[in-house]
Amino acid sequence: MSETSSLFSPNLKKHVGGCHCGAVRFECEVDLSQPLNRCNCTVCTKMGGTTTQVPPKTLRVISGEAHLGDYRVGASVNYRKFCQRCGVQCFGGGYVEVLGGDFATINVGCLDGVDLALLSIQYWDGRNDNWEAGSRPQPWPLQRA
Ligand SMILES: [Zn+2]
Repeated sequence: MSETSSLFSPNLKKHVGGCHCGAVRFECEVDLSQPLNRCNCTVCTKMGGTTTQVPPKTLRVISGEAHLGDYRVGASVNYRKFCQRCGVQCFGGGYVEVLGGDFATINVGCLDGVDLALLSIQYWDGRNDNWEAGSRPQPWPLQRA
């Protein structure tokens, strides 16, 4: 395991995954023993992805780089990469100071052989930029109570 990886978690394991049509394949080191994330922000509400952070240096596109589109909200430095053939968002990343700078996230549903029903999921109130509230076991309403 690389030095970078050990900063994140001792439970990182290499996984491979891809989009639906198979054009895009990627690998990364991920700790699936940690709760995965769902978010109610304007993009996540429509996409419905279940994500987790991975060490950016471990995320590597194996094939299909040319098929990847890049979606950003406005002028954000944060991006989501999707397969332009089948539309599946495979991973994303960018830079957020409070997350420690450079970050990468993956759509866990894209990983081969992973059953989301067997994993723990936590919910964030990204719609209201309410990150200080932390996560909780149920989805947050779109409108702040
Ligand atoms: Zn595809």
